Amino acid sequence: ERDGVERLRRWVDSCDNIVFFGGAGVSTESGIPDFRSEDGLYRQHYDWPPETILSAGFFAAHPEEFYRFYREKMLVTGAQPGPAHLALAELERRGKLRAVITQNIDGLHQKAGSRRVYELHGTIYQNRCLSCGALCGPEGLGKSGLPRCSCGGLIKPEVVLYGESLDGATLQGAVDAISRCEMLIVGGTSLAVYPAAGLLQYYRGHRLVLINKGPTPQDGRADLLLRGSIGPILTEAIRPLGGEAAL
Ligand code: NAD
Repeated sequence: ERDGVERLRRWVDSCDNIVFFGGAGVSTESGIPDFRSEDGLYRQHYDWPPETILSAGFFAAHPEEFYRFYREKMLVTGAQPGPAHLALAELERRGKLRAVITQNIDGLHQKAGSRRVYELHGTIYQNRCLSCGALCGPEGLGKSGLPRCSCGGLIKPEVVLYGESLDGATLQGAVDAISRCEMLIVGGTSLAVYPAAGLLQYYRGHRLVLINKGPTPQDGRADLLLRGSIGPILTEAIRPLGGEAAL
């Protein structure tokens, strides 16, 4: 494992066209549960599985239930960026990282200072009125009940629900970044949710790094597979080479 991280560190050092693609595991170190880990949302008891509640059909049929779950589990606005978010923001500042592509909706990459972020599944920081299209922030949802626009229309979070399609321009931006990058680091994602998980097929290079606690169906594609916590691994991987003796 140590050898693997050291190899990643050398690759990062020699590469200035890196793209990162991640998921909920990037934010577990910020206290936001993912879906599929031991303490993920799938293991907690609700009347329906999270993917049912977070679907377009469920939102249409049971908006009150949707909002109960959404406010309690998804609308986390107080979390702080973790070590993985901070390491990626630092790599972008150094001119090495071209883009972060995330399945997360928590906005933590931007909070950490990342600028080029493709949010494949949208963001909790924006909502839209389904009648007039007006936009509002998280405060526009209120604390309980069904959130209504001043026009009377129902407000919906700008997150991509299961059964909805991804924003075309965002997806295209992610595909372009991945197909042009020299090194692709994938981490904190079970690679179970499509079409996001299909993005790996656009990578053409020979430095595909996969960092995840648990196994994924695409482990076999990795040129370098690291099983572990993404925060400590990325923190170590961005330490510049040289000057070791002084540290
Ligand atoms: P997932 O829950 O399916 O998988 C998370 C993966 O990350 C697991 O394989 C787990 O082993 C790994 N992991 C957890 N903590 C880790 C850590 N510290 N270091 C390394 N690996 C770690 O999540 P997914 O693949 O992103 O798919 C779930 C969907 O749920 C996504 O579409 C996403 O939009 C949504 N979601 C988002 C958030 C968020 O915004 N923070 C939270 C929960 C779910």
